[in-house]
Amino acid sequence: MRGVTWSLPPQAYKLRDMADTIFTKILRGDIPCHKVYEDELVFAFLDIGPLSYGHTLVIPKEAAATLDQLSDESAAAIGRVLPRLCRAIMAVTGAEQLNILQNNGPMAHQAVFHVHFHIIPKPSVNQGLLIEWAPGKLDRGEGAKLATALSTALEE
Ligand code: AMP
Repeated sequence: MRGVTWSLPPQAYKLRDMADTIFTKILRGDIPCHKVYEDELVFAFLDIGPLSYGHTLVIPKEAAATLDQLSDESAAAIGRVLPRLCRAIMAVTGAEQLNILQNNGPMAHQAVFHVHFHIIPKPSVNQGLLIEWAPGKLDRGEGAKLATALSTALEE
């Protein structure tokens, strides 16, 4: 995936990019796309720069920039259809493995500020999503504190 440069302070992205994105234009029909699926809340289409054959984007019709801003209703609608889309993509492309990728924020490689899930077939080691994974080690005490803090935050 290409790098993303910061031309605005991070807090400016939400305001600017919520206004109108390329995906809003696709939803409105102002820009063409290769549509794969549509229901009341969800839209899916082929990625214009596929990492592998069958690379598909799944988006909510709701205009939320990042996943944390998305309604439970839209999130549930996407979750409901993702496995079905994966099965169709696997059947048509022949890929038996795939990655789901969901980027939030420029540092996390988000380029279009409308929530989207990538479905990226992984037909071979060198095709599809290439990941650099550098795991740390979770300290037991820190882990306990962090899990408690997260559980508490979820109750608020
Ligand atoms: P991300 O880096 O997660 O924000 O991914 C944005 C994705 O949108 C990239 O994979 C682009 O190739 C894709 N994309 C951008 N414009 C279009 C478009 N007009 N039609 C289809 N896919 C697009």
